[in-house]
Amino acid sequence: MSTSTDHGRPDPEATSPAANSDGRPVSDRGDTVCVIGAGASGLTAIKNLREHGFGVDCYERETGVGGAWNWRHDRSPVYASTHLISSKPFTQFPDFPMPDSWPDYPHHGQLLSYFERYADHFDLRSHIWFGTEVIRVEPVEGDRWDVTTRSTGGYGPERTARYAAVVIANGHNWSPKLPRYEGLEQFRGEIMHASSYKDPAQLRGKRVLVVGAGNTGCDIAVEAAQQASRCWHSTRRGYWYAPKYVLGRPADQVNDSLLALRVPLRVRQWLYHWTLRLTVGDLTRFGLPKPDHRVYETHPIANSQLVYYVGHGAIGPVPDVARFHPYAVELADGREIDPEVVVFATGYLPRFEFLDASVFGDSAGAGRPTLWLNAFTPGHPTLAVAGLLQPDSGLFTLSHWQTVLFARLLQARRDRPERATAFAQRVRDRAGERYSGPVKDSSRHWFEVGHADYLRAIQRALVELEGK
Ligand SMILES: Cc1cc2nc3c(=O)[nH]c(=O)nc-3n(C[C@H](O)[C@H](O)[C@H](O)COP(=O)(O)OP(=O)(O)OC[C@H]3O[C@@H](n4cnc5c(N)ncnc54)[C@H](O)[C@@H]3O)c2cc1C
Repeated sequence: MSTSTDHGRPDPEATSPAANSDGRPVSDRGDTVCVIGAGASGLTAIKNLREHGFGVDCYERETGVGGAWNWRHDRSPVYASTHLISSKPFTQFPDFPMPDSWPDYPHHGQLLSYFERYADHFDLRSHIWFGTEVIRVEPVEGDRWDVTTRSTGGYGPERTARYAAVVIANGHNWSPKLPRYEGLEQFRGEIMHASSYKDPAQLRGKRVLVVGAGNTGCDIAVEAAQQASRCWHSTRRGYWYAPKYVLGRPADQVNDSLLALRVPLRVRQWLYHWTLRLTVGDLTRFGLPKPDHRVYETHPIANSQLVYYVGHGAIGPVPDVARFHPYAVELADGREIDPEVVVFATGYLPRFEFLDASVFGDSAGAGRPTLWLNAFTPGHPTLAVAGLLQPDSGLFTLSHWQTVLFARLLQARRDRPERATAFAQRVRDRAGERYSGPVKDSSRHWFEVGHADYLRAIQRALVELEGK
């Protein structure tokens, strides 16, 4: 159905008379769909679009698959000890289980081999242009898209190809969100964002301050507890630190059983408190601040070791940073500490630098598009975002179903346009809908979804689209 050459690749010489807004030639790719990125979300997009009969050209700026989980990639946020936070069955693609012999929480190296096997099993690599960066995505007449690429790093000529549809799967864990503090520029110690933290040797024997209590911040604090001469962990508020195992099972599996039984949020919160009371008990006894919110109102932190190391005096919990001095850090309670290394585990912000902000609506300037199902943008029925989610479990299953839905939408545009029109109306009416209980207002929770609610919403959208 597409005008692909062998293996679905665009032929750069086969330019049609079409030209882009600069008057440069455009290679028309007919019905082919463009996928940006070959991480978990891009790979599953290629697979699902191919299975629904579409030609696909995927552009990947790096030289391998796996996205964030490929530690060789210069933007990969993983560090030597990164393991899954969500457990294996709640992370894997539904049609490609991880090996039974793997642990509940595989290592990032295993994740990379999982993606390589997935790509090989479904023969995805022949549809990927590696080392090729998408630099512009522009809407053109007829709901089509001009996608301009060049070799990563800016070498070689720019090329533009015209596509029937685009899936943006560029990830949202690579552009560091850095906090601003008075005096930070004058600080003489070493400052790094968690994205540059790779190996415990970076902390060994040093006085380390870790700022931020996301899963990464807690992991790094735990490593500092074992490697550094001193570790302080600064958090803005108190958090709930969930163990990775409850009743002998991965915590997300226990939570999922409760969700499947549709146990109300308040009861789940009560059960969670009860579990914590039986294990670590009152967190303030360890010097940790009292959480100012209920469980599940911030993104879950799964870390069995943080409280353990606080209890051993190897991690000193401290409040927010007030300001930096050349040789000291002043805390919100007026105390001063003297770290040599400060690690900002302050998260990441999404970036769509290849897209004009108007495509996603005004709010896109801040990197937060208003989408339906975190995937579909009003006014652009042939554009979808995959993986722009922060689930309370693993992501890959959700990216899989997002891209199945998009593939079915593209089929409906061709075969049953009235259904596609009704879908477009739903995108307009429901953009911005949320799929989680109440969460703290912070960029950390922009894309927070409860996986059970989210999958039900996708299922409803599939049923509505197919009219069953
Ligand atoms: C420390 C850490 C732990 C995590 N733990 C878990 C976990 O336990 N479970 C879980 O489900 N998730 C976890 N995540 C989230 C993780 O981001 C997802 O698992 C997954 O990597 C997202 O896949 P993706 O394909 O959406 O994005 P990515 O993996 O980021 O892939 C995006 C790809 O797009 C490419 N790209 C970007 N821009 C362009 C461009 N302009 N042109 C061409 N290519 C481009 C990138 O090179 C990259 O290969 C974790 C994240 C971190 C940082």
